[in-house]
Amino acid sequence: MLTPQVRPLFPWPRAWFFAGAALLGIAAHNVAAESANPANLEQTARQHYLRGRYAEAADAYQRLAATRPAEAALGLSRALFGQGRIAQGVQILQGAIDSFPIEAPAVEVQKIHRDASDQRPSRSLAVDLLADLHAELAWRQFESGDYVAADAASAAALARSPDHLLARWVQAERLRVQGKLDEADQAYAWFVPFYNQKQLRITRAEDIRWIALAAAQSARWQNRPGDFRFIVNRLLPKALELEADYWPAHYEAGRLFSEKYNQAEASRSFAAALQINPQSAETHAAVAALALQHYDLDGASRSLIRALEIHPRLTQAHALWADWHIANFDRDAALARLHKAVDCNPADESVLGRLLAFRLMEAGEPTEEPDYARRLDTPGAIMAATAAQLIAAVETRNAAPGEFYFAAAVQLDDARRFDLAERYYQLAAKKMPRLAGPQSALGLMLMRLGREDEARQALEASFASDPFHVRVANTLQVLDVLDTYQKLETEHFIFRYDARDALLARSAARYLERDVYPQLCRQFGFEPPGKTLIEIFHHAKNTPGHGWFSARMVGLPYLGTVGACAGRVVGMVSPDAMPSPFHWARVLKHEFVHILNLQQTAFHVPHWFTEALAVMNEGDPRPEGWNRLLARRYRAGTHFKLDEINLGFIRPHTSDDWTLAYCQAEIYAEYMLHRFGKDAIARLLAGFADQPDTATAIYRAFAIDQADFERGYEAFLEDLVAKIQLAPETSSEQSFVELERALQSEPENAQRLAEMAAVQFAREQFAEARKFAEAAIAAAARQAKTRPPAERTAVARVPLASYVLARTRLLIGDDDEALQLLEQALDDAAPHPEVLSLLAQLRQRGNDPAGAEKLYVLARRNWPHEARWSKALAALYLAQQEEAKLAEPLEHLAGLEVDNAVIRKKLAQLALKRRDFAQAVRWAESTLHIDVNDAQMQRFAAVAYTFAGRHEDAAFAYAAAVELKPTEPAWQLEWAKSLRRAGQYEQARRVLVKLLERDPQYPGAKELLDLGSSEP
Ligand SMILES: [Zn+2]
Repeated sequence: MLTPQVRPLFPWPRAWFFAGAALLGIAAHNVAAESANPANLEQTARQHYLRGRYAEAADAYQRLAATRPAEAALGLSRALFGQGRIAQGVQILQGAIDSFPIEAPAVEVQKIHRDASDQRPSRSLAVDLLADLHAELAWRQFESGDYVAADAASAAALARSPDHLLARWVQAERLRVQGKLDEADQAYAWFVPFYNQKQLRITRAEDIRWIALAAAQSARWQNRPGDFRFIVNRLLPKALELEADYWPAHYEAGRLFSEKYNQAEASRSFAAALQINPQSAETHAAVAALALQHYDLDGASRSLIRALEIHPRLTQAHALWADWHIANFDRDAALARLHKAVDCNPADESVLGRLLAFRLMEAGEPTEEPDYARRLDTPGAIMAATAAQLIAAVETRNAAPGEFYFAAAVQLDDARRFDLAERYYQLAAKKMPRLAGPQSALGLMLMRLGREDEARQALEASFASDPFHVRVANTLQVLDVLDTYQKLETEHFIFRYDARDALLARSAARYLERDVYPQLCRQFGFEPPGKTLIEIFHHAKNTPGHGWFSARMVGLPYLGTVGACAGRVVGMVSPDAMPSPFHWARVLKHEFVHILNLQQTAFHVPHWFTEALAVMNEGDPRPEGWNRLLARRYRAGTHFKLDEINLGFIRPHTSDDWTLAYCQAEIYAEYMLHRFGKDAIARLLAGFADQPDTATAIYRAFAIDQADFERGYEAFLEDLVAKIQLAPETSSEQSFVELERALQSEPENAQRLAEMAAVQFAREQFAEARKFAEAAIAAAARQAKTRPPAERTAVARVPLASYVLARTRLLIGDDDEALQLLEQALDDAAPHPEVLSLLAQLRQRGNDPAGAEKLYVLARRNWPHEARWSKALAALYLAQQEEAKLAEPLEHLAGLEVDNAVIRKKLAQLALKRRDFAQAVRWAESTLHIDVNDAQMQRFAAVAYTFAGRHEDAAFAYAAAVELKPTEPAWQLEWAKSLRRAGQYEQARRVLVKLLERDPQYPGAKELLDLGSSEP
């Protein structure tokens, strides 16, 4: 492949060069004119190259060949490499080397480089063109995984020029990928004193790049994180001083920033590189990598498409595409991309590591003996290899393949195969202790698994060598905060919490152990083998509770929820640390469903399914907003299909997407129960027991394919959406201009006129509003006359117009006319929501509560999924003091407003009043599940428990009430009594002693104490 076409004699005839050029499709030019000033021509060619104008660069270099053949070959090959035309580039270099006059000496470049400080001229380093050609060849061959050729080429370069920087860089890299780490370390370190001694003589921007790369590697391995600052702030900018268009300086700075998690600076550097050279495929790939880190799949795909359009053989871009497909749950597409990456570079350990992860996930840990003799010398053989074969092939080549195992571990971790990931992180760290990545990733993973002590060890080890790692640094801070936390251990849970959340933790423990654990474990037929860790975060060290919670769960402060589950750990913000309270008990139950589902399926359960079960188990009706969103998206045909719904959780485009994903997931669960029976959930969970593929699981569970499953769901959904009863949303969407246009073409359209009236009213153009409303009613009346008598009343009715007109009447205090207008406009069989609502308000105001009630009841029958009618009814009953009727609309509201403590409190009070103790207990508990620190409610709950005969619970609630409000001696006495009723005489005695210490005369206390353990 690499044989040059023609063996030229010195001086080089243009023949071979043009043969090559023609092969590459480059037009031959008349070179005579330009050869007069080769320096200018070289400059032009170089500029084209650096600016990404590869065809123009090739063209100019080709013209340079007559006078400066070696420089021309070097430049042309780079222009070709920039476009991914690797074989041709290599061919050009090889041809130039073969025809180079061996005796040609290195030349001292005559440029004078001045030392800025003392203005003394200093000589540049010698330039040896033949060494340059060899070195360039070595680098490209290294990047293609052709290590044998790369070794020969770098050796040839160094034989001519022992300090050749690129050749030295390739040599160091070769030592690294052979696992000769100490030698590699020395080889990288060599660059640092070289630079310190010779910096004034370096005139080529490229040379600065190799020094920067080696210095960065040396800084990583020798644990000198401070050096990075020098490299990006001082060293790389020098390359730009030497050559302003040298974009690789920006590119390398961007990569270092990206490595140090400085996304802003990384983006800036990459943008600067692309500003100079928009055709830099490497930079587009680096931008894609950054986007992938932040789950910006659209951005990543745009950059990757661009990168590969320019350079179709960029290994890294193909590897990143594989990651992209994995993030999209498309295993086959990911493997196809890895095949392409292997084809570009069959030795790239980051690619082979990804492949190893696939093989491990399919077949588990290799059990066979590694066959070190077997060669994997084609991309096909590599793709077909087992895990053991891959490992053998890589280990044969590299004694310390830490990067190989690390790449595998990262992918295993992403796929939630934590057992395997842990082993390969450890293997990576063991094989290559210089690598900080495996320790930090392992530490973060162990945090998710709740193994905090081991996590701290790994994180501290990684922090020492990589203090820039934001997630590691944040997580170590979380561990410091957790050190100050209290601990409560129960039979199945361990709680960690701030002292301010002690009552919350006690209540949560009671709730989870008693109400949640037995129920859910029975439902799912599974008990987790170990205790579940539950951590509750409050404000600390000037950081809000939510910040700590988020840092605990993901290492970063952006989590959009108040609770989260990481497989064995549940994290939650303290409701006390949030601006508005939330139903913490519901959140904990939801997260515990995930704990069970994840563990019982060895983390195979897909997002949509466990969310379905979590939401279903919350047990509340779908909130009005969910129904509205579902109906809208269903009608627009933009609801999720099963294949897309996971993305709605992981990477929602809008917050609506996120909500819809939860909503639709829950409906999947309902649908399965409906279609496949009571055990449907357990069957599907079993389908995920040993594999993550949804189609496979569905087939195993229900013996149908996914398409059939989906068809059934669509039908179920259609039915369900048809039953959602919500009043149509008032069309505020329509713009004034649109309406005007519509009215110009249809001036007699009564509905449009009414809509215009509504828009005018909203704009406070009341006279106009009235004009349009009247016009609408008049137009409708005219149309009615043309209809048969039976239809006339219906046609003449324009409720929206009447409504607007009524409101204009109300503005001038004409309640009677407004009332009349609305009564005429109301159609009992198909009421208009605004007409009904306004009419009901007027009746209520006009002392006709029964009339108002009738309307609200009618509205509730028509639109049962809306909260507003229950709210209105409740307000009406409250105003009329009709407590007997109040509970019903409030209960409806409580279901729709899950975080509303006020409604629940009222319900509890109403229940107690009517001596319905079970309901009183239910609503009291529900209130405390939102606000556990409400002392009055704790005491109320205690009373309700007492009436319900639940004395032990009563004592628990009294303890909480007294803790929250120690200044109520009456509560203490009640507490003591309930303790006695629960048979806890000793505790009762202690409470009474305490009460009497404060108030020796407190009535009844002494008498109760004197009773001892005897019944009163
Ligand atoms: Zn969830």
